[in-house]
Amino acid sequence: MLRHIYRILVVFILITSCQESHKSKYNATQKSVKDTVVKQVAKIFSYPKDRYIVTQDTVAPNDTFGKILSRFDMAYSDIYKITQKIKDTFDVKQIKVGRPYVVLQQKDSLDSLARPKVFIYEQDPLHYTVIDFQDSIQVHYKNKKVTTKRKSVEVVINKSLYQDIADKHLSPKLAMELSNIYAWTVDFFHLNKGDAFKVIYDDVYINDTVYAGIGNIYASVFKYGGKDFYAFRYALDSTGQHYDYFDELGHTLRKQFLKAPLKFGRISSRYNLHRFIKYYGRVKPHLGTDFAAPIGTPIMATANGVVIKKAYTSGNGNYIKIKHNATYSTQYLHMSKFAKGIHVGSVVKQGDIIGYVGMTGHASGPHVCYRFWKNGKQVDALKEKMPPAKPIDKKLLPDYLKFIKSYKQQLDSI
Ligand SMILES: [Zn+2]
Repeated sequence: MLRHIYRILVVFILITSCQESHKSKYNATQKSVKDTVVKQVAKIFSYPKDRYIVTQDTVAPNDTFGKILSRFDMAYSDIYKITQKIKDTFDVKQIKVGRPYVVLQQKDSLDSLARPKVFIYEQDPLHYTVIDFQDSIQVHYKNKKVTTKRKSVEVVINKSLYQDIADKHLSPKLAMELSNIYAWTVDFFHLNKGDAFKVIYDDVYINDTVYAGIGNIYASVFKYGGKDFYAFRYALDSTGQHYDYFDELGHTLRKQFLKAPLKFGRISSRYNLHRFIKYYGRVKPHLGTDFAAPIGTPIMATANGVVIKKAYTSGNGNYIKIKHNATYSTQYLHMSKFAKGIHVGSVVKQGDIIGYVGMTGHASGPHVCYRFWKNGKQVDALKEKMPPAKPIDKKLLPDYLKFIKSYKQQLDSI
């Protein structure tokens, strides 16, 4: 089925964004796009391009394949015939508002109405479907070679991520891709001046000239809160389809939480919505997991994140709250003291020491009350199903480390 759909599609011809085509200042672009399409089509069909009247437009609201063709004086009976003939290879209902299309009418046709001969529909910037109804009705499939150019850039955050990317004339998609790669590491909503990233990636061009967006990101390093976070794309099988990003040691960037914020200690009280607390003399839900350990035992951040609270309250004592990503935050209560250098805004890596076990606030003995927030609600950390986060397979690790060596050198020398 998939192969079938694949066969139908797709002529890789070029085009740029067509939403812009109605604006006069884009006329030049529009013209060059049109020329390219005509040239491509001429090549594909081996017809001289001057034999066609070329109309380029975008699918309007309420437009259908039939409505478009009828505007070119094609009879409904003919449109029906075409639709039926191609229905297994091209579903005309897939035509979407805003997508560009091109209609070719043959200039020297004896047919005085110059009915359309070819309909080209661009489903995305790289893919076209050509429906040819000159002789027999056919849906054409062609591969137009897309070329890529390797690019290395550095962007330093000055105004905002998107603005700084725009100032360098880079694709905004770069920010989106990076925010996926670094979803567990970098809070893209709270970047600071001086944060920066370097990235090695492909720009994709059609006909070597027309920019069609970004391709693969191969390697990057995000300088975030003064720390470097590397990411390398690595194929996990020979097809290259299955890949993931890992850091310079082969750890996945999709972090799993540590099971506990302490290297040692014991769970003294679990998350329990019906716990009776002596101190209060009544049932009070316990929204955390208590890990008992001697005063002064180091408390670790259970995943990469940003410190969003460092405070004292009479209940919590000294506590820290870390935001890990859009979904998860964790909180660490009753600390005897905070670790040096930890402030609101500090970027912490998994395993970094953020404070020390104590019994400040309402605590009957030395422990850290570990609270786990998911989408703004406190949940049981021990029951929370975490996304998988396996490091690179041990068998692959030597190859991986060899593979990333030159990428890392390149990044470091940008
Ligand atoms: Zn507790």
